[in-house]
Amino acid sequence: KGEKFDAIVVGAGMSGNAAAYAMAMRGLKVLQLERGEYPGSKNVQGAILYADALEKIIPDFRDDAPLERHLVEQRFWIMDGASHTGIHYRSDDFNERRPNRYTIIRAQFDRWFSAKVREAGCTVLCETLATRLIQDSSGNVTGVCTDRPGGAILADVVVLAEGVNGFLGTLGRLRETPKPDSVALAVKEMHFLPEEVIAERFGLTADEGCVIEAGGTISRGVPGLGFLYTNKESISIGIGCLVSGLAAAMERPYDILEAFKHHPSIRPLIAGSEVKEYAAHLIPEGGYTAIPQLFGNGWVVVGDAAQLNNTAHREGSNLAMTSGYLAGKAIADVKDRGGSMVKSNLALYKSMLDSSFVIKDLMKHKEMPRFLHANSQNLFVSYPKLISKAAQSFVRVDGTSKLDKEKATSAAFLKARSRWGLISDAVRLARAWR
Ligand code: FAD
Repeated sequence: KGEKFDAIVVGAGMSGNAAAYAMAMRGLKVLQLERGEYPGSKNVQGAILYADALEKIIPDFRDDAPLERHLVEQRFWIMDGASHTGIHYRSDDFNERRPNRYTIIRAQFDRWFSAKVREAGCTVLCETLATRLIQDSSGNVTGVCTDRPGGAILADVVVLAEGVNGFLGTLGRLRETPKPDSVALAVKEMHFLPEEVIAERFGLTADEGCVIEAGGTISRGVPGLGFLYTNKESISIGIGCLVSGLAAAMERPYDILEAFKHHPSIRPLIAGSEVKEYAAHLIPEGGYTAIPQLFGNGWVVVGDAAQLNNTAHREGSNLAMTSGYLAGKAIADVKDRGGSMVKSNLALYKSMLDSSFVIKDLMKHKEMPRFLHANSQNLFVSYPKLISKAAQSFVRVDGTSKLDKEKATSAAFLKARSRWGLISDAVRLARAWR
């Protein structure tokens, strides 16, 4: 009580841990608040860890971080009710000395990351909810109130790493509540199976891993994806669908997940498993145009709270870690220069972020969310059905001549979308992707 910190970090997820670590390592007096019983207890992710982002923060993380499997194979599936058409990429190059992507379990991983943050010298308070920001009459942030007795704590700067809902930032009028068309609701289950069964079903050896990402009629016309990730002794399986899409279609996410699990291409992969965990969480999906103001007098916002999520590539944790780390670095740089934590100085965080892959990638795909939402029936229903039909016609041998098959396939595409529709879909996709 009465103690003032250089910085308070709200949240001990990917972004908050990266920010707290960066500042504590530079000698700042940092307090981190986490509402959960322990870091990771409230957090949900698929989860793929992108090593590059963490390696820049903790280069030797592979020595003791709780990693499940390193990924050697990625499968992208386009599904209809009975089939999937897939692109699979598998390479022995991924069996490298420093693998590029791992599956992780957030409850374990966040605890490990938090231990590193503590070792760096940060004070971490769990089971502590930051209830509101302390602001002066001009809105400048000077600290936070918590649900602990006498819970007001002052700091030069507050790092908002509170995740996608971002209640504190919204309450303090620093950002708006995310809109239903800029967040997806993801539901996920953990299916436990013996290690050797997982290895056999996916053709894996030792700690190799495989990921399946699937789109199509499984999301019932709602923009969304299904996913399946292999851990050591479990499989994470889930779906994420746009909230406004779910509401418009009056679909319930767990019904969609049930159907995904029972799809003939998925069912055998999880057969005989024991379900031990179920979780639901939002994912920011608004892309570049949904990013709020990222800094102000006495505050910065990072990670999901800043909507930094790349829907097109299904990356979030790496953007969260990178933004948290850059925010922490910028704050430490300002302090080293003897500067105060005012908006003009904290703009350094934004300029660092602009030069990183985070903003460059989000800017590149800024039209993608709009494209996916506006064309959901075609992308998630019509095309998957057409592609499945075309693939089946291609492989089925039934006495029909190849020419007649090709004519029938072209006719089906033209009937569903027309020549002009096909061209305009291709042009819009190319524009959204570029
Ligand atoms: P979070 O990890 O959500 O952390 C926020 C923290 O703040 C939490 O610990 C929370 O308890 C705490 N908190 C919130 N409010 C308060 C408060 N008022 N006081 C104190 N503490 C508070 N990304 C990937 O890179 N790869 C994937 O495979 C992937 N899969 C995903 C699958 C699912 C189902 C979901 C939901 C997300 C997935 N993501 C994935 C996205 C990724 O999980 C997020 O981008 C990442 O977790 C964001 O980190 P963060 O620190 O900003 O927020």
